[in-house]
Amino acid sequence: MGEFELIRRHFQRAGVAQPGNVVLGVGDDCALLQPAPGHQLAISTDMLVEGRHFFADVDPEALGHKALAVNLSDLAAMGARPLGCTLALSLPRADDAWLAAFARGLFALADAHACPLVGGDTTRGPLNLCITVFGELRPGQASRRDAAQVGDDIYVSGRTGEARLALEWLLGTPWARAAVGPELPADLRARLERPTPRLALGQALAGVAHAALDLSDGLTGDLGHILAASGVGADIALADLPVAPVLAALPDAERQTCLLSGGDDYELLFTAPVSARAAVQAAAQASGTAVARIGTVSAAPGLRLLDASGEAVAFRAKSFDHFG
Ligand code: ADP
Ligand code: MG
Repeated sequence: MGEFELIRRHFQRAGVAQPGNVVLGVGDDCALLQPAPGHQLAISTDMLVEGRHFFADVDPEALGHKALAVNLSDLAAMGARPLGCTLALSLPRADDAWLAAFARGLFALADAHACPLVGGDTTRGPLNLCITVFGELRPGQASRRDAAQVGDDIYVSGRTGEARLALEWLLGTPWARAAVGPELPADLRARLERPTPRLALGQALAGVAHAALDLSDGLTGDLGHILAASGVGADIALADLPVAPVLAALPDAERQTCLLSGGDDYELLFTAPVSARAAVQAAAQASGTAVARIGTVSAAPGLRLLDASGEAVAFRAKSFDHFG
């Protein structure tokens, strides 16, 4: 199978109707996308490297899902609607079964969010996946990291920490094995390998939320990005963080690690003014996504974690850093 046969067989889908905003898809020198009148483009790229972001033996269908999901999650954080995506793929060999499963996972998620694959690049090399997503939003509606304001409520969607627990289980970490047991339940594995991009929530929050981002490197570290960009501080009430039942079985220190510096959560962390509480709940309801109010933006710089009695708790604000 040559390069062009590979692209034709796995990534060029003859007969699949394209959304109207795709003027030209795979097959020419460029794809042509048409944003709705008066909209801005939102663009994001995420790369997944074998041994760094996934294990060599990961299910290729799950990998296809995750490669796109982490990119769609960035559009969600901004409040953008997907228009399309491109895929740059470096492969050690053309393994037909592997490619078919990868493409299945990718296209299932792409179709679910009307985000067609419109182009890419394919080369031989170490396994490495890079997706770029294109989205659209109305000018002034993006939920930017620098837009948090003193007095804002802080919210998180869904719940954090399960992906980290699943990762520690796969690495054979004793506390994770002890809490989860000898088998990794499918739903817990899915939290790591098949994250759900919160696109409907993100779009419903456009114009409601002040600042937002998606949690990829852990709650405290990622919240730190909003605080730094906005020049504010925050108080987080630990007791208000949603906790998955499986995390309740962990010792306190490990539970806190999962909840606060877990990574790979792909939940939305956002701030909104107190006057928008009803609008935030309406956005959560309309998108079918749980959101929890977990803290407050303050003028005092830094991040404080408070226990149930309002006392500050010591913690290390650690988040994942490839060069850290
Ligand atoms: P060019 O020579 O112009 O760089 P290529 O030969 O790399 O183009 O690719 C041919 C066509 O196939 C282009 O439209 C490109 O966008 C598309 N393409 C290549 N690789 C992929 C891929 N992995 N997924 C989707 N489309 C791809
Ligand atoms: Mg070209």
